[in-house]
Amino acid sequence: MFSCVGYAASSATAPLEAITFERRDCGPRDVQIDIAYCGVCHSDIHTVRSEWGPSFYPCVPGHEIIGRVVRTGGDVTRFIKGDLVGVGCMVNSCRHCHSCEAGLEQYCDALPTWTYNSPDPAFPKEGAHTYGGYSRSIVVDDHFVLRVPENLDPAAAAPLLCAGITTWSPLAHWKVGKGHRVGVVGLGGLGHMAVKFAVALGTEVTLFTTSPNKVEDGKRLGAHRVVISRDAEAMQAEANRFDFILDAVSAEHDVNEYLGLLRQDGHMVLVGLPEKPMSVGAFTLVGKRRSLAGSAIGGIQETQEMLDFCGQHNITADIEMIKMDQINEAYERVLRSDVKYRFVIDMASLPETA
Ligand code: NAP
Ligand code: ZN
Ligand code: ZN
Repeated sequence: MFSCVGYAASSATAPLEAITFERRDCGPRDVQIDIAYCGVCHSDIHTVRSEWGPSFYPCVPGHEIIGRVVRTGGDVTRFIKGDLVGVGCMVNSCRHCHSCEAGLEQYCDALPTWTYNSPDPAFPKEGAHTYGGYSRSIVVDDHFVLRVPENLDPAAAAPLLCAGITTWSPLAHWKVGKGHRVGVVGLGGLGHMAVKFAVALGTEVTLFTTSPNKVEDGKRLGAHRVVISRDAEAMQAEANRFDFILDAVSAEHDVNEYLGLLRQDGHMVLVGLPEKPMSVGAFTLVGKRRSLAGSAIGGIQETQEMLDFCGQHNITADIEMIKMDQINEAYERVLRSDVKYRFVIDMASLPETA
């Protein structure tokens, strides 16, 4: 084992601060990565604050990781020292259930080992949990390491590892493309990637936002139309219009307002994960054979496909770079929907020791 510096919360109400913790040594199938950048996902905040149930503490979040390979185990053939690589939300899974065999490790029957806040069977001591990317380095099984195109700005590519794949996967699964009218709800980290991807796929994109000050940005990002979702009249005018709506909202809101905007046989897919259950009116779904579904990140193979697509089309996130000690302030800004459109931590700003 070796010691690693990171930033952690010690409880659901504590701010994040520097700590030292232990990582496992690089095993035969492992890749050891020096972390250069890590994106700040709203899931980090939900988890650090135990909003989805009690978390393990200390909690080192971060699952939008970009860095360079510094060491590889003897059985690793896909990577060599110096490669630019990424790690997203998962670092392992059972590899043999139906979902794993289909390349959809995020739906593993045994649950994937999440990059942070997950029991860690690979750690040499009992009872350990995983620590994420707000840290100096990470050791990951090579199956869960992604290749990052060298032409992309590595800091702006970090959010592709979660916000990117989470919005790419449902667009691919529901075969969204040319001729479709797509709605994106919420212009945050996920929402702004959804707008970029839906535009790149040739759809007509309408952004729904609660923030009037994001109208111009929505258009700059490529949305053809922007609707202020708090304007009841404007919302009514959108009824029965959409083939596909992606809901990337992090907080409680009324999904029925959007279900009514789907045309017959339209799909609405939730990727946002508000902490409380929501209510759904049966009549809105039944009346036009609409469907409501959910989607979690994406499999490893499709994450690689998404990264390669981003390399070819030069797609990255719009980011605000922060230093590690600005993280608590950044969380407050995310909670106020005041981020354009992803914070990324420059890991060079981590202290040498905790
Ligand atoms: P984010 O950057 O904070 O964006 C969320 C956006 O939701 C905000 O920018 C805001 O957009 C809108 N919003 C916030 N509060 C709202 C409210 N009370 N009513 C209506 N709209 C509101 O968060 P994110 O990192 O994109 O993550 C979004 C959600 O997806 C989180 O719950 C996160 O945990 C979840 N997530 C899920 C997956 C998955 O695999 N399914 C993966 C990653 C993240 P406007 O200002 O435009 O209204
Ligand atoms: Zn995330
Ligand atoms: Zn599995």
